[in-house]
Amino acid sequence: MKLANYVYGQWIEGAGEGAALTDPVTGETLVRVSSDGIDVARALEFARTEGGAALKALTYEERAAKLAAIAELLQAKRAEYFELSLRNSGATEGDASFDVDGAIFTVKSYARAGKALGAGRHLKEGGRVALAKTDVFQGQHFLMPLTGVAVFINAFNFPAWGLWEKAAPALLAGVPVFAKPATPTAWLAQRMVADVVEAGILPPGAISIVCGGARDLLDHVTECDVVSFTGSADTAARMRTHPNVVARSVRINIEADSVNSAILGPDAQPGTPEFDLAVKEIVREMTVKTGQKCTAIRRILAPAGVSRALADAVSGKLAGCKVGNPRSEGVRVGPLVSKAQQAAAFEGLAKLRQECEVVFGGDPDFEPVDADAAVSAFVQPTLLYCDKGLAARHVHDVEVFGPVATIVPYVDTRDAVAIARRGHGSLVASVYSGDAAFLGELVPGIADLHGRVMVVDAAVGANHTGHGNVMPTCLHGGPGRAGGGEELGGLRALAMYHRRCVVQGGPAVLEALSRDAVDAALLGA
Ligand code: NAP
Repeated sequence: MKLANYVYGQWIEGAGEGAALTDPVTGETLVRVSSDGIDVARALEFARTEGGAALKALTYEERAAKLAAIAELLQAKRAEYFELSLRNSGATEGDASFDVDGAIFTVKSYARAGKALGAGRHLKEGGRVALAKTDVFQGQHFLMPLTGVAVFINAFNFPAWGLWEKAAPALLAGVPVFAKPATPTAWLAQRMVADVVEAGILPPGAISIVCGGARDLLDHVTECDVVSFTGSADTAARMRTHPNVVARSVRINIEADSVNSAILGPDAQPGTPEFDLAVKEIVREMTVKTGQKCTAIRRILAPAGVSRALADAVSGKLAGCKVGNPRSEGVRVGPLVSKAQQAAAFEGLAKLRQECEVVFGGDPDFEPVDADAAVSAFVQPTLLYCDKGLAARHVHDVEVFGPVATIVPYVDTRDAVAIARRGHGSLVASVYSGDAAFLGELVPGIADLHGRVMVVDAAVGANHTGHGNVMPTCLHGGPGRAGGGEELGGLRALAMYHRRCVVQGGPAVLEALSRDAVDAALLGA
Protein backbone atom coordinates (compact mmCIF):
# COMPACT_ATOMS: atom_id res chain seq x y z
CA MET A 1 0.00 0.00 0.00
CA LYS A 2 1.18 3.52 -0.81
CA LEU A 3 -0.02 6.41 1.39
CA ALA A 4 -1.72 9.16 -0.60
CA ASN A 5 -0.80 12.83 -0.39
CA TYR A 6 -3.54 15.41 0.21
CA VAL A 7 -2.99 18.42 -2.04
CA TYR A 8 -5.20 20.85 -3.98
CA GLY A 9 -8.23 19.29 -2.34
CA GLN A 10 -7.46 15.81 -3.72
CA TRP A 11 -5.90 12.59 -2.50
CA ILE A 12 -3.05 11.77 -4.86
CA GLU A 13 -0.65 8.86 -4.81
CA GLY A 14 2.95 9.80 -5.61
CA ALA A 15 4.60 8.18 -8.59
CA GLY A 16 7.18 5.41 -8.63
CA GLU A 17 8.12 2.88 -6.03
CA GLY A 18 8.55 5.40 -3.21
CA ALA A 19 10.20 4.84 0.18
CA ALA A 20 9.31 2.03 2.56
CA LEU A 21 8.09 2.62 6.11
CA THR A 22 9.07 -0.25 8.37
CA ASP A 23 8.33 -1.85 11.71
CA PRO A 24 11.54 -1.26 13.71
CA VAL A 25 11.02 -4.42 15.76
CA THR A 26 10.48 -6.91 12.93
CA GLY A 27 11.98 -5.03 9.99
CA GLU A 28 8.74 -5.68 8.04
CA THR A 29 7.75 -3.14 5.37
CA LEU A 30 4.40 -1.62 6.35
CA VAL A 31 3.50 0.94 3.67
CA ARG A 32 5.30 3.11 1.11
CA VAL A 33 5.29 6.86 0.49
CA SER A 34 6.14 8.99 -2.50
CA SER A 35 5.84 12.68 -3.31
CA ASP A 36 7.04 12.21 -6.89
CA GLY A 37 4.81 13.88 -9.44
CA ILE A 38 3.11 16.14 -6.89
CA ASP A 39 2.87 19.71 -8.13
CA VAL A 40 4.09 21.40 -4.97
CA ALA A 41 3.80 24.93 -6.38
CA ARG A 42 0.13 24.33 -7.21
CA ALA A 43 -0.49 22.71 -3.83
CA LEU A 44 0.93 25.71 -1.97
CA GLU A 45 -1.03 28.16 -4.12
CA PHE A 46 -4.27 26.22 -3.52
CA ALA A 47 -3.61 26.35 0.23
CA ARG A 48 -2.96 30.12 0.13
CA THR A 49 -5.92 31.07 -2.01
CA GLU A 50 -8.61 28.54 -0.99
CA GLY A 51 -7.61 27.52 2.52
CA GLY A 52 -6.22 30.89 3.56
CA ALA A 53 -9.24 32.85 2.39
CA ALA A 54 -11.71 30.47 4.04
CA LEU A 55 -9.86 30.45 7.35
CA LYS A 56 -9.56 34.23 7.36
CA ALA A 57 -13.29 34.59 6.88
CA LEU A 58 -13.63 33.02 10.33
CA THR A 59 -12.99 34.81 13.62
CA TYR A 60 -10.42 33.66 16.17
CA GLU A 61 -13.13 32.08 18.33
CA GLU A 62 -14.66 30.27 15.33
CA ARG A 63 -11.26 28.81 14.49
CA ALA A 64 -10.80 27.87 18.15
CA ALA A 65 -14.04 25.91 17.89
CA LYS A 66 -12.61 24.03 14.91
CA LEU A 67 -9.56 23.13 17.00
CA ALA A 68 -11.87 21.81 19.70
CA ALA A 69 -13.59 19.62 17.09
CA ILE A 70 -10.20 18.34 15.87
CA ALA A 71 -9.15 17.49 19.44
CA GLU A 72 -12.39 15.59 19.98
CA LEU A 73 -11.91 13.63 16.76
CA LEU A 74 -8.29 12.74 17.56
CA GLN A 75 -9.32 11.70 21.06
CA ALA A 76 -11.96 9.35 19.62
CA LYS A 77 -9.37 7.69 17.37
CA ARG A 78 -6.62 7.54 19.97
CA ALA A 79 -6.45 3.74 20.09
CA GLU A 80 -5.86 3.52 16.31
CA TYR A 81 -3.07 6.09 16.60
CA PHE A 82 -1.44 4.09 19.39
CA GLU A 83 -1.47 1.03 17.14
CA LEU A 84 0.21 2.97 14.30
CA SER A 85 2.80 4.33 16.75
CA LEU A 86 3.58 0.81 17.85
CA ARG A 87 3.89 -0.53 14.32
CA ASN A 88 5.72 2.31 12.61
CA SER A 89 7.77 3.72 15.54
CA GLY A 90 8.10 0.72 17.86
CA ALA A 91 6.45 2.82 20.56
CA THR A 92 5.51 1.43 23.94
CA GLU A 93 2.11 2.55 25.23
CA GLY A 94 3.83 5.28 27.26
CA ASP A 95 5.80 6.46 24.22
CA ALA A 96 2.69 6.55 22.04
CA SER A 97 0.87 8.49 24.73
CA PHE A 98 3.70 11.02 24.89
CA ASP A 99 3.23 11.76 21.19
CA VAL A 100 -0.50 11.24 20.61
CA ASP A 101 -1.88 12.47 23.93
CA GLY A 102 0.64 15.31 23.81
CA ALA A 103 -0.83 16.32 20.46
CA ILE A 104 -4.42 16.18 21.71
CA PHE A 105 -3.55 18.08 24.90
CA THR A 106 -1.87 20.81 22.84
CA VAL A 107 -4.77 21.21 20.41
CA LYS A 108 -7.20 21.40 23.34
CA SER A 109 -5.02 24.00 25.00
CA TYR A 110 -5.16 26.22 21.88
CA ALA A 111 -8.89 25.64 21.48
CA ARG A 112 -9.36 26.91 25.03
CA ALA A 113 -6.94 29.82 24.80
CA GLY A 114 -8.20 30.85 21.35
CA LYS A 115 -11.70 31.45 22.67
CA ALA A 116 -10.36 34.38 24.66
CA LEU A 117 -9.47 36.16 21.41
CA GLY A 118 -13.16 36.45 20.63
CA ALA A 119 -14.62 37.69 17.38
CA GLY A 120 -11.60 39.53 15.95
CA ARG A 121 -9.57 38.63 12.86
CA HIS A 122 -6.41 40.59 13.52
CA LEU A 123 -4.57 42.11 16.46
CA LYS A 124 -3.89 45.65 17.59
CA GLU A 125 -0.68 46.26 19.47
CA GLY A 126 -0.26 49.05 22.00
CA GLY A 127 -1.76 52.51 21.84
CA ARG A 128 -1.71 55.30 19.27
CA VAL A 129 1.67 56.81 18.51
CA ALA A 130 1.74 60.62 18.27
CA LEU A 131 3.32 61.74 14.97
CA ALA A 132 2.11 65.33 14.58
CA LYS A 133 1.45 68.31 16.84
CA THR A 134 -2.26 67.41 16.93
CA ASP A 135 -4.01 64.02 16.62
CA VAL A 136 -4.62 64.60 12.90
CA PHE A 137 -1.83 62.15 12.02
CA GLN A 138 -0.96 59.16 14.23
CA GLY A 139 0.41 55.65 14.10
CA GLN A 140 -1.05 52.34 15.25
CA HIS A 141 0.70 48.98 15.25
CA PHE A 142 -1.24 45.93 14.09
CA LEU A 143 -0.43 42.23 13.81
CA MET A 144 -2.02 40.92 10.60
CA PRO A 145 -2.27 37.19 9.82
CA LEU A 146 0.02 36.04 7.01
CA THR A 147 -1.69 35.62 3.67
CA GLY A 148 0.57 32.68 2.84
CA VAL A 149 0.84 29.12 4.04
CA ALA A 150 2.54 27.59 7.07
CA VAL A 151 4.92 24.93 5.78
CA PHE A 152 5.91 22.35 8.38
CA ILE A 153 8.94 20.17 7.72
CA ASN A 154 8.97 17.82 10.67
CA ALA A 155 11.24 15.34 12.44
CA PHE A 156 10.56 11.61 12.69
CA ASN A 157 10.32 11.38 16.45
CA PHE A 158 6.99 13.18 16.97
CA PRO A 159 4.73 12.38 14.00
CA ALA A 160 1.61 13.42 15.97
CA TRP A 161 2.70 16.13 18.42
CA GLY A 162 5.14 17.64 15.91
CA LEU A 163 2.29 18.22 13.48
CA TRP A 164 -0.34 19.51 15.89
CA GLU A 165 1.82 21.70 18.14
CA LYS A 166 2.51 23.72 14.99
CA ALA A 167 -0.88 23.37 13.30
CA ALA A 168 -2.94 24.51 16.28
CA PRO A 169 -1.52 28.06 16.51
CA ALA A 170 -1.29 28.40 12.71
CA LEU A 171 -4.93 27.47 12.16
CA LEU A 172 -6.00 29.66 15.07
CA ALA A 173 -4.18 32.55 13.39
CA GLY A 174 -6.05 31.85 10.13
CA VAL A 175 -3.05 30.48 8.26
CA PRO A 176 -3.42 27.23 6.25
CA VAL A 177 -1.12 24.33 7.01
CA PHE A 178 1.07 22.34 4.65
CA ALA A 179 2.74 19.40 6.41
CA LYS A 180 5.71 17.36 5.28
CA PRO A 181 6.29 14.74 7.98
CA ALA A 182 9.63 12.95 8.17
CA THR A 183 9.53 9.94 5.88
CA PRO A 184 10.35 7.06 8.28
CA THR A 185 7.30 7.65 10.54
CA ALA A 186 4.92 9.56 8.23
CA TRP A 187 2.05 7.10 8.59
CA LEU A 188 0.58 8.47 11.82
CA ALA A 189 0.64 12.11 10.64
CA GLN A 190 -0.91 11.08 7.32
CA ARG A 191 -3.68 9.13 9.08
CA MET A 192 -4.50 12.02 11.41
CA VAL A 193 -4.76 14.45 8.49
CA ALA A 194 -6.90 11.94 6.59
CA ASP A 195 -9.26 11.67 9.56
CA VAL A 196 -9.57 15.45 9.91
CA VAL A 197 -10.17 15.84 6.16
CA GLU A 198 -12.77 13.08 6.15
CA ALA A 199 -14.59 14.66 9.08
CA GLY A 200 -14.90 17.90 7.08
CA ILE A 201 -13.89 20.03 10.04
CA LEU A 202 -11.70 22.42 8.07
CA PRO A 203 -12.40 24.26 4.82
CA PRO A 204 -10.72 22.91 1.65
CA GLY A 205 -7.07 23.92 1.43
CA ALA A 206 -6.75 24.59 5.17
CA ILE A 207 -4.66 21.46 5.63
CA SER A 208 -2.46 19.60 3.13
CA ILE A 209 0.07 16.82 3.56
CA VAL A 210 2.86 15.49 1.40
CA CYS A 211 4.68 12.31 2.44
CA GLY A 212 8.09 11.48 1.06
CA GLY A 213 11.06 13.57 -0.02
CA ALA A 214 9.37 16.70 -1.45
CA ARG A 215 12.84 18.09 -1.93
CA ASP A 216 11.62 20.98 -4.12
CA LEU A 217 9.34 22.32 -1.39
CA LEU A 218 11.47 25.32 -0.49
CA ASP A 219 11.82 26.32 -4.15
CA HIS A 220 8.16 27.38 -4.06
CA VAL A 221 7.75 29.25 -0.78
CA THR A 222 7.22 33.01 -0.86
CA GLU A 223 7.59 36.03 1.38
CA CYS A 224 3.99 35.56 2.54
CA ASP A 225 4.66 32.05 3.87
CA VAL A 226 6.33 30.79 7.00
CA VAL A 227 8.51 27.69 7.13
CA SER A 228 8.70 25.85 10.41
CA PHE A 229 11.43 23.23 10.42
CA THR A 230 12.14 20.63 13.08
CA GLY A 231 15.07 18.30 12.62
CA SER A 232 18.80 18.03 12.83
CA ALA A 233 21.16 21.00 12.92
CA ASP A 234 22.75 19.88 9.64
CA THR A 235 19.48 19.91 7.70
CA ALA A 236 18.51 23.17 9.43
CA ALA A 237 21.63 24.84 8.07
CA ARG A 238 20.65 23.79 4.55
CA MET A 239 17.10 25.13 5.01
CA ARG A 240 18.29 28.45 6.35
CA THR A 241 20.61 29.01 3.41
CA HIS A 242 18.27 27.72 0.70
CA PRO A 243 18.60 30.25 -2.17
CA ASN A 244 14.85 30.88 -2.46
CA VAL A 245 14.47 31.29 1.32
CA VAL A 246 17.34 33.78 1.31
CA ALA A 247 16.25 35.64 -1.84
CA ARG A 248 12.66 36.11 -0.67
CA SER A 249 13.43 36.61 3.05
CA VAL A 250 11.03 33.81 3.88
CA ARG A 251 10.29 33.67 7.60
CA ILE A 252 11.77 30.46 8.96
CA ASN A 253 11.57 28.99 12.44
CA ILE A 254 14.08 26.32 13.33
CA GLU A 255 13.83 23.75 16.08
CA ALA A 256 17.04 21.77 15.84
CA ASP A 257 18.91 19.37 18.05
CA SER A 258 20.33 20.17 21.42
CA VAL A 259 22.72 18.71 23.98
CA ASN A 260 20.51 19.41 27.01
CA SER A 261 21.72 19.30 30.60
CA ALA A 262 20.44 18.11 33.95
CA ILE A 263 22.35 19.90 36.72
CA LEU A 264 22.54 18.77 40.32
CA GLY A 265 23.21 21.53 42.87
CA PRO A 266 25.77 21.18 45.67
CA ASP A 267 22.91 20.34 48.04
CA ALA A 268 21.70 17.39 45.90
CA GLN A 269 23.60 14.86 47.99
CA PRO A 270 22.66 11.16 48.08
CA GLY A 271 19.68 10.68 50.38
CA THR A 272 18.17 14.11 49.65
CA PRO A 273 14.91 14.57 47.73
CA GLU A 274 16.80 16.64 45.11
CA PHE A 275 19.18 13.75 44.41
CA ASP A 276 16.34 11.25 44.16
CA LEU A 277 14.28 13.54 41.91
CA ALA A 278 17.28 13.95 39.62
CA VAL A 279 17.88 10.18 39.38
CA LYS A 280 14.22 9.55 38.56
CA GLU A 281 14.15 12.22 35.88
CA ILE A 282 17.44 11.12 34.28
CA VAL A 283 16.21 7.54 33.96
CA ARG A 284 12.86 8.73 32.61
CA GLU A 285 14.56 10.94 30.03
CA MET A 286 16.88 8.15 28.89
CA THR A 287 14.08 5.64 28.49
CA VAL A 288 10.89 7.50 27.40
CA LYS A 289 10.68 7.25 23.60
CA THR A 290 14.04 5.46 23.89
CA GLY A 291 15.72 8.83 24.27
CA GLN A 292 14.41 10.05 20.90
CA LYS A 293 13.35 13.46 22.18
CA CYS A 294 14.96 16.72 21.19
CA THR A 295 14.55 17.79 24.82
CA ALA A 296 16.07 14.65 26.37
CA ILE A 297 18.85 14.90 28.93
CA ARG A 298 22.19 14.28 27.20
CA ARG A 299 24.63 15.67 29.77
CA ILE A 300 24.33 15.28 33.55
CA LEU A 301 26.33 17.86 35.47
CA ALA A 302 27.00 16.80 39.06
CA PRO A 303 29.27 18.07 41.84
CA ALA A 304 32.50 16.06 41.63
CA GLY A 305 31.93 14.48 45.05
CA VAL A 306 28.48 13.21 44.09
CA SER A 307 29.01 12.05 40.53
CA ARG A 308 30.02 8.44 41.28
CA ALA A 309 27.09 7.90 43.65
CA LEU A 310 24.84 9.36 40.97
CA ALA A 311 26.27 6.98 38.36
CA ASP A 312 25.54 4.03 40.67
CA ALA A 313 22.00 5.17 41.40
CA VAL A 314 21.11 5.75 37.73
CA SER A 315 22.74 2.47 36.67
CA GLY A 316 20.77 0.58 39.33
CA LYS A 317 17.50 1.90 37.95
CA LEU A 318 18.47 1.33 34.30
CA ALA A 319 19.27 -2.29 35.15
CA GLY A 320 15.59 -2.74 36.06
CA CYS A 321 14.27 -1.48 32.70
CA LYS A 322 13.21 -4.24 30.34
CA VAL A 323 14.25 -3.40 26.76
CA GLY A 324 12.65 -5.11 23.80
CA ASN A 325 9.51 -5.66 21.75
CA PRO A 326 6.84 -3.31 23.14
CA ARG A 327 4.26 -6.06 22.47
CA SER A 328 5.95 -8.13 25.17
CA GLU A 329 4.74 -7.96 28.79
CA GLY A 330 6.71 -5.59 31.03
CA VAL A 331 8.83 -4.03 28.28
CA ARG A 332 9.53 -0.41 29.13
CA VAL A 333 12.02 0.60 26.43
CA GLY A 334 11.42 -0.01 22.72
CA PRO A 335 13.68 0.26 19.67
CA LEU A 336 14.81 3.34 17.76
CA VAL A 337 12.59 4.04 14.76
CA SER A 338 14.82 2.54 12.09
CA LYS A 339 18.05 0.73 11.32
CA ALA A 340 19.40 4.02 9.99
CA GLN A 341 18.77 5.72 13.33
CA GLN A 342 20.36 2.77 15.12
CA ALA A 343 23.47 3.09 12.95
CA ALA A 344 23.62 6.86 13.61
CA ALA A 345 23.31 6.25 17.36
CA PHE A 346 26.12 3.66 17.32
CA GLU A 347 28.29 6.08 15.39
CA GLY A 348 27.67 8.86 17.93
CA LEU A 349 28.23 6.48 20.83
CA ALA A 350 31.59 5.44 19.39
CA LYS A 351 32.64 9.10 19.34
CA LEU A 352 31.54 9.64 22.93
CA ARG A 353 33.40 6.52 24.04
CA GLN A 354 36.65 8.10 22.85
CA GLU A 355 36.49 10.42 25.84
CA CYS A 356 34.12 8.61 28.25
CA GLU A 357 34.03 5.56 30.44
CA VAL A 358 30.99 3.29 30.07
CA VAL A 359 29.18 3.01 33.40
CA PHE A 360 26.14 1.08 32.22
CA GLY A 361 25.10 -0.57 28.95
CA GLY A 362 26.97 -0.10 25.70
CA ASP A 363 27.02 -3.86 25.12
CA PRO A 364 27.39 -4.57 21.40
CA ASP A 365 25.97 -8.09 21.92
CA PHE A 366 22.94 -6.85 23.83
CA GLU A 367 19.85 -9.03 23.25
CA PRO A 368 16.47 -7.28 23.27
CA VAL A 369 13.49 -9.15 24.74
CA ASP A 370 11.34 -10.92 22.13
CA ALA A 371 13.10 -9.40 19.10
CA ASP A 372 15.81 -10.40 16.67
CA ALA A 373 18.81 -8.12 17.16
CA ALA A 374 19.79 -8.59 13.52
CA VAL A 375 16.64 -7.05 12.02
CA SER A 376 15.43 -4.77 14.82
CA ALA A 377 16.72 -1.28 15.69
CA PHE A 378 17.50 -1.51 19.41
CA VAL A 379 20.17 0.39 21.32
CA GLN A 380 20.85 -0.61 24.90
CA PRO A 381 20.36 2.28 27.37
CA THR A 382 23.89 3.50 28.03
CA LEU A 383 25.25 5.72 30.78
CA LEU A 384 28.68 7.26 30.25
CA TYR A 385 31.05 9.13 32.56
CA CYS A 386 33.39 11.86 31.37
CA ASP A 387 35.88 13.40 33.79
CA LYS A 388 37.28 15.87 31.26
CA GLY A 389 34.74 18.62 31.94
CA LEU A 390 35.07 21.56 29.59
CA ALA A 391 38.08 19.98 27.87
CA ALA A 392 35.87 17.23 26.40
CA ARG A 393 34.65 17.81 22.84
CA HIS A 394 32.21 15.16 21.64
CA VAL A 395 30.29 15.12 24.93
CA HIS A 396 29.27 18.72 24.35
CA ASP A 397 28.85 18.49 20.57
CA VAL A 398 27.40 15.09 19.69
CA GLU A 399 23.69 14.46 20.18
CA VAL A 400 23.22 10.69 20.26
CA PHE A 401 19.52 10.49 19.41
CA GLY A 402 18.81 7.50 21.62
CA PRO A 403 18.94 6.25 25.22
CA VAL A 404 22.39 7.65 25.97
CA ALA A 405 23.52 10.23 28.55
CA THR A 406 26.86 11.27 30.04
CA ILE A 407 27.70 12.29 33.60
CA VAL A 408 30.13 15.23 33.69
CA PRO A 409 31.46 16.17 37.15
CA TYR A 410 31.93 19.89 37.82
CA VAL A 411 34.16 21.68 40.30
CA ASP A 412 32.12 24.74 41.32
CA THR A 413 29.15 26.80 40.14
CA ARG A 414 31.20 28.76 37.66
CA ASP A 415 32.39 25.47 36.12
CA ALA A 416 28.79 24.16 35.97
CA VAL A 417 27.68 27.33 34.17
CA ALA A 418 30.56 27.05 31.68
CA ILE A 419 29.84 23.37 30.94
CA ALA A 420 26.11 23.97 30.43
CA ARG A 421 26.91 26.90 28.13
CA ARG A 422 29.32 24.72 26.16
CA GLY A 423 26.24 23.14 24.55
CA HIS A 424 26.24 26.38 22.51
CA GLY A 425 22.52 26.85 23.02
CA SER A 426 20.01 24.28 24.27
CA LEU A 427 16.30 23.69 24.46
CA VAL A 428 16.22 22.95 28.17
CA ALA A 429 18.23 22.52 31.35
CA SER A 430 16.76 21.06 34.51
CA VAL A 431 18.30 21.96 37.85
CA TYR A 432 17.89 19.93 41.03
CA SER A 433 18.62 22.17 43.97
CA GLY A 434 17.10 24.23 46.74
CA ASP A 435 20.31 26.18 47.37
CA ALA A 436 19.36 29.82 46.81
CA ALA A 437 22.94 31.06 46.41
CA PHE A 438 23.72 28.37 43.81
CA LEU A 439 20.49 29.02 41.90
CA GLY A 440 21.05 32.78 42.06
CA GLU A 441 24.32 32.33 40.19
CA LEU A 442 23.49 29.36 37.96
CA VAL A 443 20.06 30.25 36.54
CA PRO A 444 20.95 33.76 35.27
CA GLY A 445 24.29 32.32 34.15
CA ILE A 446 22.67 29.92 31.68
CA ALA A 447 19.26 31.50 30.92
CA ASP A 448 20.27 33.39 27.76
CA LEU A 449 21.44 30.12 26.18
CA HIS A 450 18.40 28.03 27.11
CA GLY A 451 14.79 28.22 25.98
CA ARG A 452 13.60 26.71 29.24
CA VAL A 453 15.14 26.21 32.67
CA MET A 454 13.27 23.91 35.04
CA VAL A 455 14.22 24.16 38.72
CA VAL A 456 13.17 21.33 41.00
CA ASP A 457 13.61 21.22 44.77
CA ALA A 458 12.07 19.24 47.61
CA ALA A 459 9.05 21.57 47.76
CA VAL A 460 8.30 21.16 44.03
CA GLY A 461 8.81 17.41 44.40
CA ALA A 462 6.72 15.33 42.03
CA ASN A 463 4.65 18.33 40.93
CA HIS A 464 7.05 19.33 38.17
CA THR A 465 5.98 18.79 34.56
CA GLY A 466 9.16 17.01 33.46
CA HIS A 467 12.52 17.92 31.96
CA GLY A 468 11.53 16.70 28.50
CA ASN A 469 7.83 17.60 28.52
CA VAL A 470 6.93 20.57 26.39
CA MET A 471 3.92 22.38 27.85
CA PRO A 472 1.74 24.20 25.30
CA THR A 473 1.49 27.17 27.65
CA CYS A 474 5.28 27.56 27.95
CA LEU A 475 7.95 28.46 25.43
CA HIS A 476 9.62 25.68 23.41
CA GLY A 477 12.77 26.35 21.41
CA GLY A 478 16.30 27.36 22.17
CA PRO A 479 19.07 29.62 20.90
CA GLY A 480 22.23 28.79 19.01
CA ARG A 481 22.66 25.14 18.21
CA ALA A 482 19.03 24.47 19.18
CA GLY A 483 18.03 26.47 16.11
CA GLY A 484 17.12 29.86 17.55
CA GLY A 485 13.39 29.16 17.14
CA GLU A 486 10.42 29.82 19.38
CA GLU A 487 7.24 27.77 19.47
CA LEU A 488 4.24 27.45 21.77
CA GLY A 489 4.26 29.64 24.88
CA GLY A 490 0.46 29.80 24.78
CA LEU A 491 -0.93 32.47 22.48
CA ARG A 492 2.58 33.90 22.01
CA ALA A 493 2.91 31.28 19.26
CA LEU A 494 0.46 33.26 17.12
CA ALA A 495 3.08 35.97 16.62
CA MET A 496 4.92 33.77 14.10
CA TYR A 497 1.80 33.57 11.93
CA HIS A 498 1.13 37.32 11.99
CA ARG A 499 3.22 40.18 10.71
CA ARG A 500 3.58 43.52 12.45
CA CYS A 501 2.59 46.59 10.44
CA VAL A 502 2.26 50.15 11.64
CA VAL A 503 -0.45 52.13 9.88
CA GLN A 504 0.10 55.89 9.88
CA GLY A 505 -2.84 58.10 9.11
CA GLY A 506 -5.77 60.05 10.42
CA PRO A 507 -7.97 58.95 13.32
CA ALA A 508 -10.81 57.73 11.08
CA VAL A 509 -8.80 55.08 9.26
CA LEU A 510 -7.07 53.96 12.45
CA GLU A 511 -10.40 53.76 14.24
CA ALA A 512 -11.94 51.67 11.45
CA LEU A 513 -9.02 49.23 11.49
CA SER A 514 -9.07 49.02 15.27
CA ARG A 515 -12.78 48.37 15.62
CA ASP A 516 -12.70 44.56 15.34
CA ALA A 517 -9.07 44.12 16.33
CA VAL A 518 -8.16 42.14 19.41
CA ASP A 519 -5.63 43.51 21.89
CA ALA A 520 -2.28 41.85 21.13
CA ALA A 521 -1.45 42.04 24.84
CA LEU A 522 -3.63 38.92 25.15
CA LEU A 523 -0.89 36.92 23.41
CA GLY A 524 1.33 37.25 26.44
CA ALA A 525 -1.45 37.05 29.02
P1 NAP B 1 16.36 15.48 9.65
O1 NAP B 1 17.05 14.35 8.99
O2 NAP B 1 17.08 16.76 9.77
O3 NAP B 1 14.99 15.65 8.87
C1 NAP B 1 14.01 16.55 9.30
C2 NAP B 1 13.01 16.79 8.20
O4 NAP B 1 13.63 17.48 7.12
C3 NAP B 1 12.43 15.52 7.59
O5 NAP B 1 11.06 15.73 7.32
C4 NAP B 1 13.21 15.39 6.29
O6 NAP B 1 12.53 14.66 5.31
C5 NAP B 1 13.30 16.83 5.91
N1 NAP B 1 14.30 17.18 4.93
C6 NAP B 1 15.61 16.83 4.92
N2 NAP B 1 16.22 17.42 3.87
C7 NAP B 1 15.29 18.16 3.22
C8 NAP B 1 15.28 19.00 2.06
N3 NAP B 1 16.39 19.20 1.37
N4 NAP B 1 14.11 19.59 1.69
C9 NAP B 1 12.97 19.38 2.38
N5 NAP B 1 12.91 18.60 3.50
C10 NAP B 1 14.05 17.99 3.90
O7 NAP B 1 15.92 15.14 11.15
P2 NAP B 1 15.24 13.80 11.68
O8 NAP B 1 16.28 12.74 11.64
O9 NAP B 1 13.92 13.57 11.05
O10 NAP B 1 14.95 14.21 13.21
C11 NAP B 1 15.85 14.02 14.28
C12 NAP B 1 16.43 15.33 14.72
O11 NAP B 1 15.40 16.28 14.98
C13 NAP B 1 17.20 15.22 16.02
O12 NAP B 1 18.44 15.81 15.84
C14 NAP B 1 16.35 16.01 17.03
O13 NAP B 1 17.09 16.63 18.05
C15 NAP B 1 15.66 17.00 16.18
N6 NAP B 1 14.40 17.41 16.79
C16 NAP B 1 14.27 18.67 17.28
C17 NAP B 1 13.08 19.07 17.87
C18 NAP B 1 12.91 20.45 18.44
O14 NAP B 1 11.78 20.83 18.72
N7 NAP B 1 13.96 21.21 18.61
C19 NAP B 1 12.01 18.18 17.96
C20 NAP B 1 12.17 16.90 17.44
C21 NAP B 1 13.38 16.52 16.85
P3 NAP B 1 12.82 13.10 5.05
O15 NAP B 1 12.44 12.37 6.28
O16 NAP B 1 11.95 12.80 3.90
O17 NAP B 1 14.29 12.99 4.75
